[in-house]
Amino acid sequence: ELALKNPVTLPRWIRINTIKATKEEVLKQLALTRVSSLKEVGPGTYYMDEIIDNLIALDGETSLVNESCYQEGKVIIQDKASCIPAAILGNQRQTKVGDIIDGCAAPGNKTTHLAALFPNAKIFAFERNSQRVQTLQKMVEISGAQNVEILHQDFTQSDIMDPKFANVTHILLDPSCSGSGIVSRQDFLLEESEQDLVEDVNRLESLCSFQSTILKHALQFPKCQYVTYSTCSVHRLENEQVVCDVLSQEPQWKCNTIENTLPQWEDRGIPEYCTDPMMAKAMIRCVPGKFGTIGFFVCNLYHSGRVGNLLG
Ligand code: SAM
Repeated sequence: ELALKNPVTLPRWIRINTIKATKEEVLKQLALTRVSSLKEVGPGTYYMDEIIDNLIALDGETSLVNESCYQEGKVIIQDKASCIPAAILGNQRQTKVGDIIDGCAAPGNKTTHLAALFPNAKIFAFERNSQRVQTLQKMVEISGAQNVEILHQDFTQSDIMDPKFANVTHILLDPSCSGSGIVSRQDFLLEESEQDLVEDVNRLESLCSFQSTILKHALQFPKCQYVTYSTCSVHRLENEQVVCDVLSQEPQWKCNTIENTLPQWEDRGIPEYCTDPMMAKAMIRCVPGKFGTIGFFVCNLYHSGRVGNLLG
C-alpha cells in the first residue's frame, strides 16, 4: 500500500535553523504547549519529533508568515520526510566529513539543513535553473549559512576532476521527480484514461533515465564516500529501480545498512522492486500521510573501497 486514501491532512513541520537560533529560543518565542504525540497536535500545541533533531510539528493550519522567527530564518518550513536525507548523511559517524555537494539544491531546504548539520564543511550547491538559483540564494542568505557556495550549473556537466571538488566526501542528490508523493498532487490515484496512463509511463521513464544519469554522475567523484539519493515520488521507477540499476553498473557502491539509516523507521524499500531484499531494508519510504509526512524515498549509498564493507 503506497498511499493512504485522500483526504490526508499533514501537520505543519518546522525545522529549527540552528545556524540562527537554539531550540529553547524558538520554543519560547512560539509560546506553545508541548504534547507527547503527533496525533494530539492541534491549535496552540506542538510536538517535538523523536527521530529528526530540531524538528517540530504544529497544527496543519498554522500560518507562520507573520511570525518573526519565520521571517528571520530561525525556523524553516520543511516536511519531516524532506529532513531525512541530510539527517542520514550526517549519521555516518565513522568517517570524517570533507566537503559536500548538493547536486540539485533549489529552493534550498536540504542545502540549509546540511549547512546547519556540517558547519565545518564547505557545501557546493548546484542548481541549473536560473530562477530557482535566485530562490536558493535568498534561502541560503536568510538561513545565515556562511559555508555554502552556489553553482548555477548543470550538475551532470560538472567536472569530477576539478581540484575544487577534490575534498568532496559526501553528496546529497534530490533530483527533479514526478512529485507523486506530495499529498496535494495525488491525483494519479484517481482513475485515468488509457491515453493518460501511457503519457504517465512515458514521463516516469524519462524521469527515471534522468535520475539514473545524475546519480551515476554523483558516484564518479574521486573521493566521495557517501551519496544520499531521494525523491518525493512514490513510484518504483524513480526509486528502487534507479538505485538498483545504477548499483548494478557500479560494483564498488553499495546500499548502506539499516543500522545507519534510521533503523527505527518502519517503512522501508519494497523488496519485490529490488535485486536483493537486503537493499530494500536499507532504503526508506515515507507513505503519504502515514506519520504526518508526504510520500518520500531515501537511500544512502557508500563506496566499499573507501569506507570499508559495512555489511561484513
Ligand atoms: N533539494 C531541494 C530542497 O530540498 O529544497 C529540492 C530539489 S528539487 C526536487 C530538484 C531541483 O533540481 C530543481 O530545482 C531543479 O531545477 C534542479 N535540477 C534538475 N536537474 C538538475 C541538474 N542536472 N543540475 C542541477 N540542478 C538540477
